[in-house]
Amino acid sequence: MDFISPSVIKRIASKYGFVFKKGLGQNFLSSQDVLEEIAIAAEIDDGGVIEIGPGFGVLTNELAKRAKKVLALEIDERLIPILEDTLGEYDNVRVINQDILKTDVKKLIDDEFDGEKVSVAANLPYYITTPIITGLLEGNLPLKNLVVMVQKEVADRITAEPGTKNYGAISVLCQYYTETELVTIVGANEFVPPPKVDSAVVKMAFRDKPAVEVKDEKMFFRTVKAAFSQRRKTLLNCLVANFSQSKAEIAEIMESVGIDATRRGETLSLDEFAKLSEALS
Ligand code: SAM
Repeated sequence: MDFISPSVIKRIASKYGFVFKKGLGQNFLSSQDVLEEIAIAAEIDDGGVIEIGPGFGVLTNELAKRAKKVLALEIDERLIPILEDTLGEYDNVRVINQDILKTDVKKLIDDEFDGEKVSVAANLPYYITTPIITGLLEGNLPLKNLVVMVQKEVADRITAEPGTKNYGAISVLCQYYTETELVTIVGANEFVPPPKVDSAVVKMAFRDKPAVEVKDEKMFFRTVKAAFSQRRKTLLNCLVANFSQSKAEIAEIMESVGIDATRRGETLSLDEFAKLSEALS
């Protein structure tokens, strides 16, 4: 494949008469540098990698150079013959015409990679960013690194520290399962066609075990969700609105784990959420 640039993407589109579908999040990456950064961040080390939404195969190409095997899932059947052509030089790439949200990823990894740990890399279709990331994090899957292009705002939330304005339930979810890192910020002009928003690549490196020990994960995430349910309210009032205990009881529980009643949810560390959720159960 050629060194990728906007003109190369436009040439491929025109060669195959391909019309971009906005509804499928089809903004194709046209920066060779960013493609390489994503592939390097995935730390494939000649192992397996899954790509979500290969498009014309520009990222697949970079992954295939570094992987034992690339499995790419593409929902748009119009792209399958194009990918056969653009990725024809590789015998370590398998493209399947499938919707990631309807895929049993655990079974796929078992079948295609013998259950070995794999990385996931993608320039995500933004309309389904959250369900894709949530599904991969919560799926108890043998994953190594998840390296994804997302909207810049989403990247800011995924990597946000407690006490900052971007810190929310998605920060806690991602940081519970992975170590998050902002890899690079990518302007809209690095895509064909350009999206309306800026983008960023984030890396999520799966932890061997979650960041904090919790007895009941459901309760932990219920507490987190409750804490962020109404940003303007104090944590105490958010909890009162979401749990059956009285205000006085919840205030006492908070005090018992050393969390001041006047604090807001967005100031709590993962460790404090863990202690609080245990005390609430
Ligand atoms: N990887 C290519 C690139 O970087 O240029 C294309 C990225 S584009 C942002 C998103 C891709 O995801 C498109 O090819 C789109 O057709 C595909 N896609 C959209 N929804 C999907 C889904 N539910 N399952 C699998 N692929 C999907």
